[in-house]
Amino acid sequence: MSNVLEIIPLGGIGEFGMNCTLLRFGDEMLVIDAGMGFPEESVYGVDVSIPDFDILEEFRDHITAIVLTHGHEDHLGALPYILKKFNVPVYASRFTLGLAEYKLEEHGILGDVLLHRVEPRDIVTIGVFTIEFIRASHSLVDCFSLAIKTPVGTIVHTGDYKVDETPVIGEPIDLRTLRRYGQEGVLALLSDSTNATVPGRTPSERAVIPAFEEIFAEARGRIIVAAFASSIHRLQIVFDVAQQFDRKVCVLGRSMQKNVEIADRLGYLDIHDGLLVGIKDLKNLSDEEVVLLVTGSQAEPRAALYQMATQTYRGLAIDEGDTVVLSARIIPGNERAISKLIGFIYKRGANIIEEKRRLVHVSGHASQEDIRIMTEAVRPRFVIPIHGEYRMLFRHKEFIKNHLGYAEENIILIENGDVLELDGERAAVVDRREIKRTFIDETGFEEIEFETVRQRKQLAYEGIVTLVVTLNLLTRELEAPPEIVARGVRGFDEANGFVKSAQVLVTEAFASASQAQLADTTLLKEYLRLELKRFIQQQTGSRPVITPVVLQI
Ligand SMILES: [Zn+2]
Repeated sequence: MSNVLEIIPLGGIGEFGMNCTLLRFGDEMLVIDAGMGFPEESVYGVDVSIPDFDILEEFRDHITAIVLTHGHEDHLGALPYILKKFNVPVYASRFTLGLAEYKLEEHGILGDVLLHRVEPRDIVTIGVFTIEFIRASHSLVDCFSLAIKTPVGTIVHTGDYKVDETPVIGEPIDLRTLRRYGQEGVLALLSDSTNATVPGRTPSERAVIPAFEEIFAEARGRIIVAAFASSIHRLQIVFDVAQQFDRKVCVLGRSMQKNVEIADRLGYLDIHDGLLVGIKDLKNLSDEEVVLLVTGSQAEPRAALYQMATQTYRGLAIDEGDTVVLSARIIPGNERAISKLIGFIYKRGANIIEEKRRLVHVSGHASQEDIRIMTEAVRPRFVIPIHGEYRMLFRHKEFIKNHLGYAEENIILIENGDVLELDGERAAVVDRREIKRTFIDETGFEEIEFETVRQRKQLAYEGIVTLVVTLNLLTRELEAPPEIVARGVRGFDEANGFVKSAQVLVTEAFASASQAQLADTTLLKEYLRLELKRFIQQQTGSRPVITPVVLQI
């Protein structure tokens, strides 16, 4: 057995989401996080994507555990899917497990998996790896950085973090423990890059309180706050300020209700008795006594905010006099949808307050000065930027190089599928695995074949042609001219004569079909499909999906 550690990212590098990293030493492998992503293919009916776990098949007997840094979907969302393939123990914080249990229950596998709850400062030995769970601050509660002792040295994985010394809920980031590891010597730091392009420090979760107090003091009608359901600190602030201004809070939207319920049950939220009201209690309250805490900050069409802005959500609609607070960042890709949503809200006569107008949102990720604090605490030999698009990883590297005096060769940019080998002295990418991703249809928790998505894309861009040939069973000849129907195919329609020429082509192709093709409809269909495909492509340049049907009478 060679004395090297391999670090292999399956996702989360060069992209937003799908965070998942493998640590391998000899015949033991640890999986850190199992996140989902939100692919551009969403327009083709794909809700989410997950890492390609099939690549783990060859290590089936080597995987010892899955360790979760925190409960965000981009770190936790793929957990049910990996567990269905590889049923190994999971280690996570109390809150992360609360979210995980809900998810596993939905997938019907909660009873079949082994979940280990860990607290900050807990040290767990799993084979050759000894892991200390270190409290990290983030927009969610109960998040960890990990210090992992391996036979070649200690690896620190930051998870998602910012340096928040005054979080709303729980204790601040545990820099002391990180510094202790720094003093003992850390081989490599895998470090969050999401905000590596942002100068300065990321504000504390508390920083939004003044803006919320001002908004609540000014508002005369209902206040509608849209936030990420997972921003637990933010939810607490909304509850506190509502209490302070004598308003009741009605929580709307499935994920918001779920997270409030879990966080409250596990004791993370402090909600005054009588503060929460149900939707039917609203009719007994005047507008200035109401806060609606809703999902849909990203203008998701099925979420509460969008529905209230465009039609009604469970009988509620945004109205004149309402104040809508968008207390979330815009996830890249959602700009246009959110801009439209803001338009709808203005049309309804409501006032809207977003990040650009007042400080109603702060990031959960480390800006450059947070990165400085983390890196100086851990003092690793190698820095490995993770979590983020390539631009962010690159800027992370530039910052460390220019401002913290790290040498180029000690900052390693890796990509998904890279096999990074560390022997205690050197670090080098020795191999690259081809990493695909798996698409998921969330309605049925089903994997969607890559081919299906490819076909949907092709249908959207190139259209479809249906070819029906009717074959006489006795004579093995065509009963009628082939029927060809085109939908959405550029340059190919009845009017311009191409359909007629295609019918002639198919008739001719049929006449020269081989005996084997005539005897087997599968062969015949494929033969005619290829002939028609070639023709349409030559004549029009289009590559539609072609569906051949052979009828036999
Ligand atoms: Zn996160």
